[in-house]
Amino acid sequence: MDLPFGTQTPELDVLIVGGGLSGLTSALKILAMESTLKVRLIEASDGLGGQMGQNGIRLVDGAQQDMLALLTLVHLSPRRRRSINGRLRRCWDLDRGLTALPAKFELGRYIEMLDLRMPKFRSKRFNLRERVSNMEQHICHHLFFSKSRNFMLSLVELVCGVPASEVDYDVFMSICSSCGGLKMLIDFYFTYPSSFYEISTEMLIESILEQLQFITITLNCRAVRLDHYKNYVQVTDDQGNRHTAQAAILAIPWNKVQKLEFVPPIPTAYQPRTPSKSGQRRRQLISQFRLRYGKSVWTDLGYSGNFLSAQPLLVSGHECRLSSFCGYVLHAPEDQDEVLQDVVDLLAEHFGEEMRQPLECQCHTDELNAAQHKPQTKPWHRVIWSSSSAVGTSYRSLMGGAVQSGFRAAVNAVFVVRPQVVSWKDMLVERPKLAQDVVASGRIRGLLSRLNLYNVTFYSFFVLGLIWLLNLGYARAF
Ligand SMILES: Cc1cc2nc3c(=O)[nH]c(=O)nc-3n(C[C@H](O)[C@H](O)[C@H](O)COP(=O)(O)OP(=O)(O)OC[C@H]3O[C@@H](n4cnc5c(N)ncnc54)[C@H](O)[C@@H]3O)c2cc1C
Repeated sequence: MDLPFGTQTPELDVLIVGGGLSGLTSALKILAMESTLKVRLIEASDGLGGQMGQNGIRLVDGAQQDMLALLTLVHLSPRRRRSINGRLRRCWDLDRGLTALPAKFELGRYIEMLDLRMPKFRSKRFNLRERVSNMEQHICHHLFFSKSRNFMLSLVELVCGVPASEVDYDVFMSICSSCGGLKMLIDFYFTYPSSFYEISTEMLIESILEQLQFITITLNCRAVRLDHYKNYVQVTDDQGNRHTAQAAILAIPWNKVQKLEFVPPIPTAYQPRTPSKSGQRRRQLISQFRLRYGKSVWTDLGYSGNFLSAQPLLVSGHECRLSSFCGYVLHAPEDQDEVLQDVVDLLAEHFGEEMRQPLECQCHTDELNAAQHKPQTKPWHRVIWSSSSAVGTSYRSLMGGAVQSGFRAAVNAVFVVRPQVVSWKDMLVERPKLAQDVVASGRIRGLLSRLNLYNVTFYSFFVLGLIWLLNLGYARAF
């Protein structure tokens, strides 16, 4: 497509839209590569951090090399998660009731089955087939108990940002394979083990900001329109201000990119392919909360603080600091006003009435990032995509992915504005995952893992029916 020439002289070298982890990483990397560049970052909300939150704890494993590199860059040393309550029992609805054992058993088998099949969906081979079942159908065909179904449906929604009915099996598997596997994702989102590194998001943002003193950061400034000219990009925000730059990094997920008006429209070649059914989708919000108490109420009751309730809402939480409980809730937009009250009610039901009186309580709500599309790494002239949901090679949908896409976007932007400072080493930032990361799988293990209550029952009836028919035929013959 031939872009028109603009008549203005751009005021900035690079404009970054979005102050989440990928936007902040891009800013940091651009300055590290060329400190004389004029960079501005605009953020729609009143704080930085995006999905990472501003006052919680996040976990990363040792394989998230890019994330660990970022910590070194901002002089933070990774610390293993401190879990003094490691031996105490967890408070999960999956562990309760008569069906707990079989439900956990079938869930374990299902997760193992998906993990064994995952190497086929490596991000390099990200191929969307035309006719595959969506994740809701897949889950309902393989899992019998509502507990295990709810767990998986919630997990898919959390990872992909849209309900399981809108996510193709191939897409979910590809995303999981670029995150180190399904078990890894479950650890990140639900189990919080002490083998991971623990990162205080507050400290991380502070340390990044210390190094971004020469960058203008504008909060409460939402980009609404992007005019793309041959010689520069112009972004208009919701207050009507115009930001002109030689290159723009859109450090926002694709579902938020789609809300911007593009002039001229984005050509299809630069749009990530999404599954066919993604028409009008139900908006889903995520609220991240932190509650501080005088003491760890849950410990006195013999619980570790790890909490999960998949019904009626999805609430997952853990003890983040002594006597502090943090977590998140997936909910519909209409429930936003009552969400914190609902969480406190639910915690009070499980841990006692003391949970109703937190000394401090914080809650931050945002739309979930949707990652139900092909990775998106190829810039459109002066417009560069970035976001943990756009990365294609490692730790997609996680902090490692956000950092990796932020680094890559920074290199692309510097390449547009100052190509002479970009070295070939910089161009290699997006690496494929190493082959040994992939779980080795045996054929028999793979076959056995496919057995579930449905097909075992079906095959048993089939074999019994066949025996009965043979018996009948035999009796008639003689
Ligand atoms: C509940 C939960 C728990 C998680 N736990 C972990 C974990 O333990 N470990 C881990 O590695 N990862 C974890 N992750 C994933 C990780 O937090 C995210 O992948 C990462 O923070 C995403 O960063 P991002 O910059 O790509 O996107 P975002 O954080 O979404 O940043 C996008 C930013 O852009 C802003 N924005 C959007 N539209 C506009 C606009 N039009 N104009 C201006 N600004 C705009 C948004 O306000 C936002 O601040 C978790 C995610 C969730 C939801």
